[in-house]
Amino acid sequence: MLSEEEIARRLAVVKDRIAAAAGRSRRHPDSVCLVLASKTQPPGALRAAYRAGARVFGENYVQEAAAKHHALSDLRDIRFHLIGHLQTNKARQASSMFELIHSLHSARLAQALHRAHPEPPMRVLIEVNLGGEATKHGAAPDDVEGLIAQVRDEVEVAGLMAIPPPAHNPEHSRPHFAQLRRMRDKLAAHSGLELRELSMGMTDDFEVAIEEGATIVRVGRAVFGERG
Ligand SMILES: *Cc1c(COP(=O)(O)O)cnc(C)c1O
Repeated sequence: MLSEEEIARRLAVVKDRIAAAAGRSRRHPDSVCLVLASKTQPPGALRAAYRAGARVFGENYVQEAAAKHHALSDLRDIRFHLIGHLQTNKARQASSMFELIHSLHSARLAQALHRAHPEPPMRVLIEVNLGGEATKHGAAPDDVEGLIAQVRDEVEVAGLMAIPPPAHNPEHSRPHFAQLRRMRDKLAAHSGLELRELSMGMTDDFEVAIEEGATIVRVGRAVFGERG
């Protein structure tokens, strides 16, 4: 783990870069929520980021998140998002820990979340498999409208999330981010739901994502360093 000072320094740099990218697209910096992707990081790394002002952490695995949730339970206003794949049999445990699930991909999972947490309904984003990559989770773009219709009475669908295919140049991610935003605009018009959240952009491309309308960026390595 990096030193507490180094984590604080890196966090400040990321916040400045977020503010600059928001400014370029004439948006307020507060319109972008920074979720620190903290998979594999020890609780001490999250605590250091929290002391430096971070509040929202994105975890990929329910089990790993549960341990950190427990270790950091003295931090009253810390919040966790689930950014990784969620199996239906972990829905109940997830519903008690996460304020937003970025990876809803099936009606079956929505039913399980509803059973575990009917009122208020769980907030979720639909994960969209933009590149149609077989190795990735998420709903195919053509299936998202039908999925929203199926799950909207069981969970609160707050928007969309995507992980574009890996790219060496962040500009290569731009068309994918723009596509997700256009999908959102169309789905919002068709469904009557606001779908205000667009969770897109990571360490290598979060500025481009913000320029294309991201309201949530998920940043790990830029703050915590390379994963071991
Ligand atoms: C790990 C991860 C991130 C952050 O990736 P970095 O490249 O470390 O910024 C974002 N989103 C998801 C879903 C991840 O698994």
